[in-house]
Amino acid sequence: MNPAGESWRVRAEIDHGALRHNAAAMRKAVGDHTGLIAVVKADGYGHGGPAVAQTLAPFTEQFGVATLGEARAVRAAVPDKDILILSPCLPDERKAVVDEGFIPVVSSTAEAKAYAQLAESTSVRIHLSIDTGMGRIGVWQDDAVKTVRDIAALGSVDLESVSTHLPVADSDPDFTAEELAAWDRLVAQLRLIVPGAKFHALNSAASLKVPRLAADRIRPGLALYGVSPLPDFQKLLRPVLALKTRITLVRDVGPGRGISYGRDFITTKPMRVATLAAGYADGYPRQTSNQGAQVLIRGERCPILGRVTMDQFMVDVTDLPRDVAPGEEVVLCGKEGDEEITVGEIAAWAGTISWDILTRLGKRVVVQHRDFWNRG
Ligand SMILES: *Cc1c(COP(=O)(O)O)cnc(C)c1O
Repeated sequence: MNPAGESWRVRAEIDHGALRHNAAAMRKAVGDHTGLIAVVKADGYGHGGPAVAQTLAPFTEQFGVATLGEARAVRAAVPDKDILILSPCLPDERKAVVDEGFIPVVSSTAEAKAYAQLAESTSVRIHLSIDTGMGRIGVWQDDAVKTVRDIAALGSVDLESVSTHLPVADSDPDFTAEELAAWDRLVAQLRLIVPGAKFHALNSAASLKVPRLAADRIRPGLALYGVSPLPDFQKLLRPVLALKTRITLVRDVGPGRGISYGRDFITTKPMRVATLAAGYADGYPRQTSNQGAQVLIRGERCPILGRVTMDQFMVDVTDLPRDVAPGEEVVLCGKEGDEEITVGEIAAWAGTISWDILTRLGKRVVVQHRDFWNRG
C-alpha cells in the first residue's frame, strides 16, 4: 500500500541477480576477447533502462539505446560508459548528440559529414551501420568499402565502430550463415581501412547460436533479460521479469452465463471465477483472449475465461481450494512452485514475439527492483 492508501494491482518484479547471471552467461558464450554492448533501448526492454544499466555496467563495454532521450537517461545512471544510439537521430538532434558525446549511428557519408560539421574542437565519434539484408538502416554492403574510405578521409570524425544487424538470426540459419560469411569477408577488407574500428553483428539469437562469429563485440538485448529467442538455449538464462497481479473478487457463477465482453465464453456448469486486477492497459495482451492462456494461482495453472478487458479479466478457479480470496497474488508471468509461465508462452498465446510482450508494460504497473545476491 502506498501512503495514499492505494494497494498494488499489477507489479513487475525485476531480478537483478538474474541480469548479472545472463550478462555473465553471454560473455562466457563468446569468450574473453569479445566485448559486450548491452542493449537497453525501450527502457531496458521494459525493465527500467537506468536501473538495468547500473547492474550491467561491470559486464559491458558499451550500452545501446534507440533514442537521444534514452541515451540521456542511461548516461545519468552510468556516467562513465559509452552509449551507442542504434536508431538514426533526427537532423535537429545531432547537435545535442555531439555536444553530449553520445555515439550516433550513420548510414551514409552525407550523414557522417553532417556530424563532422558539428564538431567543435575534438572529433566526433560515430558508428557506421551496413545493410547486409535487414533493409532498415545502413549503407548497402556493396557500397561499404567506398563509404568507409570516404568517412575515414573526413576530418573530425572518428569511425569508432562498424556493424550490421541480422534480420532472421532466430528463424533462418541458412540465410544467416551466408550473410555472416559475406560480412566476415567485408570486415577483413574494412579492417585494412579503419584498423582502430570495432566490428559487431550479433544480436541475442546469433550470439547464442554462432558465438564463434562474434568479432569484436556482441549486441544482445533479449537474452540479457533472460529470454532466449531460441528455446534450445533457454537453460543458459534466467528470466529477469516476474509480472504479478491480484484477485479482486471470487464469484460463484451458474451454468449458461457469459463471461466478459463479446460473451465468447459461456459456462456449461457451475464455476468459481476470479476477477483479476490487470488488463490490457497494464500490458497484458488482449490478444491472449480465447487462446488457451493461463495464469498461476497457488502454483496452479488457471485458464483465462473470455476476453481480457482494459483493466480486468477473469480466470477459472473452480478446482482451487475454497479459501482463494480477494487480495491474493496471481502470477501472470514467472515461477510459482513447480510451475512457470514464460514470456515466450504469453507471446505465443498473443500471436506475437517476446520482445513485444516485454516492451508493452503499461504505466500503471508498479516496478520493484530486487537483488538476490545469493540465490542459487
Ligand atoms: C534491438 C537491437 C539489438 C538487440 O536485439 P535482440 O534480438 O534483443 O538481442 C541489437 N542490435 C540492434 C541494432 C538492435 O536494434
